[in-house]
Amino acid sequence: STPGGPRAKEEKIFVTVRVRPLSKKEQALKDQVAWDCVDDNTIVFKAPSQDRLSSSPFYTFDKVFGPTSLTETVYKEGAKDVALSALTGINATIFAYGQTSSGKTYTMRGITESAVNDIYKHIHNVSERHFTIKISALEIYNEVVRDLLKPDSGPLRLLDDPEKGTIVEKLEEEVAKDSQHLRHLIGICEAQRQVGETSLNDTSSRSHQIIRLTVESSLRENSGCVKSYVASLNFVDLAGSERASQTHADGARLKEGCHINRSLLTLTTVIRKLSAGKKSGHIPYRDSKLTRILQLSLGGNARTAIICTMSPALSHVEQSRNTLFFATRAK
Ligand code: ADP
Ligand code: MG
Repeated sequence: STPGGPRAKEEKIFVTVRVRPLSKKEQALKDQVAWDCVDDNTIVFKAPSQDRLSSSPFYTFDKVFGPTSLTETVYKEGAKDVALSALTGINATIFAYGQTSSGKTYTMRGITESAVNDIYKHIHNVSERHFTIKISALEIYNEVVRDLLKPDSGPLRLLDDPEKGTIVEKLEEEVAKDSQHLRHLIGICEAQRQVGETSLNDTSSRSHQIIRLTVESSLRENSGCVKSYVASLNFVDLAGSERASQTHADGARLKEGCHINRSLLTLTTVIRKLSAGKKSGHIPYRDSKLTRILQLSLGGNARTAIICTMSPALSHVEQSRNTLFFATRAK
């Protein structure tokens, strides 16, 4: 973000939970909805009727979005404020966290689209500033970083820059000419990602994807004092959270599992320590590629929102509880 520019207030991570509808498959298998979204902030496990005496805990968050919620609402109430702070020079990161098939990609795509619309609306309204939007995108799979804007690019190295912090060497960065061009570039990243998914079985559950917009602006008619802002806005679609608790891995799976665990586990530690505040001591950003890349967008002059996605199904209760446990420690 901008040295000497606006500073983010000391604030908590904005933590929301989104429950998707039962899928067709879950419905066909007569799976049950196991969760009640009691109000806008509260979710509770529906105890089966014969189990009335065992009380379930109420989990509360900044927002809880039930199965009928629209992604547009999730954006407006769960991500918009954080996203738009990038327009004023404050780094912003929005995460989707949850088990595979809980709705991370579905949600993050919609959030990215809404944020892009809002950013260009803002650019058109704020005529006194000139904005430049750049995009870069990467995937971390097995602790290997790959460029999502450049087809067939090899593994990329991380370098430490005294001013910019950790940078990804040779990562493609493109200037978006307008909103249509930006959407086109985001489409290229999505396509690149799908290539990976078909060639390697189930990559999406193991890899982290970051789409990073760099938002720069300066006053158009400056009277000597050029005031420019620069900030990163990161959209992060994380590997499936079941990877953080995987214990039954072997062979090649073990290697993948271990490395996925590294970025995801380190992230969960970093988030927990950030939310615990100043007293929590050393924050291990350097222990994984994901947290190195995001360091300045997490613990620097930055704002963070986490959308935790979960399946409503009874058959997934254990993973959903893990997600709520993570969400509770993040808030
Ligand atoms: P993940 O990225 O967490 O593995 P996906 O985003 O791919 O999960 O979602 C799994 C499936 O559920 C997809 O077919 C997706 O379209 C569907 N889905 C996810 N969230 C919702 C939702 N809120 N409403 C309707 N369908 C959803
Ligand atoms: Mg996904």
